[in-house]
Amino acid sequence: MDVVCTVCSAALYDTEEQTCRPCTERVAANLLALAGPDGLYARLSASLHPGSRTGGPAVSGSRTAPLPVRLDPLSLAARGGVVTILQTWLVDWHETLGYRHPRWDGDLQQQLDQVVGRLRNLIPWAAAEHGAFSEFASEVGQLRRQCEAATGGERGPRRFGVTCPCGATLKITIESPGKHCGACGAQYDRRALFDLQLAERRAA
Ligand SMILES: [Zn+2]
Ligand SMILES: [Zn+2]
Repeated sequence: MDVVCTVCSAALYDTEEQTCRPCTERVAANLLALAGPDGLYARLSASLHPGSRTGGPAVSGSRTAPLPVRLDPLSLAARGGVVTILQTWLVDWHETLGYRHPRWDGDLQQQLDQVVGRLRNLIPWAAAEHGAFSEFASEVGQLRRQCEAATGGERGPRRFGVTCPCGATLKITIESPGKHCGACGAQYDRRALFDLQLAERRAA
């Protein structure tokens, strides 16, 4: 009978059960990339609050429709997104092992860091024995790719355009600190830059 990795179908060494070591390490690395103050999840959260627009006075005439570029980070960062998906897996693993139901403490970032740490502790067991480890592996890989796509990941933030009242299009990213319009000379700080896009139809 063939004994191959359930994730990548490579032949397994005698010391490996169900999952090869490179796949196990890749899943652990994908989890780690999500966690921590410099991780993808923290960058997602930061991208939801560009500048200090929340709490500031509304700009007259501007509409408050959400920016399309911020929808991806929102659905991933909110409860029900990355944190909940990973917590659901940890609950499943605890049930399989006969452990107590895990507890969650703190805000979503703290819960993300906790659940990543606990999943990583259990990865050697899950890779060798959990019946759905290949599903876990692909789901964690998808989460990482989605977070990278939403934040720009390692490749730098995704670029998009906003329209200066002079008619010029300014290429910016969700991490742009500000921008100078080369056409009319206007200087925008970060907050003003994001107001430009919300005020797309405002007359110049
Ligand atoms: Zn493999
Ligand atoms: Zn301009």
